[in-house]
Amino acid sequence: MTTPSTSPQPARPVPLPDDASAPFFDAARENRLMIQRCRGCGTYFWPLREICSECLADDLEWAEASGRGTVHSFGVMHRVYHPSFARDVPYNLTVVELEEGPRLNTNLVDIDNEAIEVGMNVEVAFTEVDDGAYLPLFRPAS
Ligand code: ZN
Repeated sequence: MTTPSTSPQPARPVPLPDDASAPFFDAARENRLMIQRCRGCGTYFWPLREICSECLADDLEWAEASGRGTVHSFGVMHRVYHPSFARDVPYNLTVVELEEGPRLNTNLVDIDNEAIEVGMNVEVAFTEVDDGAYLPLFRPAS
C-alpha cells in the first residue's frame, strides 16, 4: 500500500509521434480527427496498420473522421495506476465507436462519471495534454 504523496503530481506521459503517426498528431493540433482508410475497399481503421484487414491491400490513406460517435463501453478507475493520474481518480476510460466504425480508447470530459451511458452520442473534444500535444477526448454531443 502506498502513502499519499504531497509532492507535485508528475506530468502525464504524452505520446511521442513517429513518422507513421505524425499525420494524426499534426491534425490533432488543428482539432481534426484523422484515421486511416483503405483505398481499395473503403474500410476505416484505428489504430494504425500497414495492411487492410478486410481486403489485404497495402494502399491506406489518412481520412478526416466526423468526430462523432457513441459510447461502446467504459469503466471508472478508482485506483492510481500511474502517479501522474493521482489527482484524477476516479476517472473514466471510455471506448468510443466512431461513425466510421473504428473504436478509440479515450476519456469522456464535461460529464460526471455517473452520467455516462453505453450508446450515448459523443463528439470529439481535442485537449492539450502537454505543450503542443493534443489528444482526442470526447464529450456528450451537443
Ligand atoms: Zn481494404
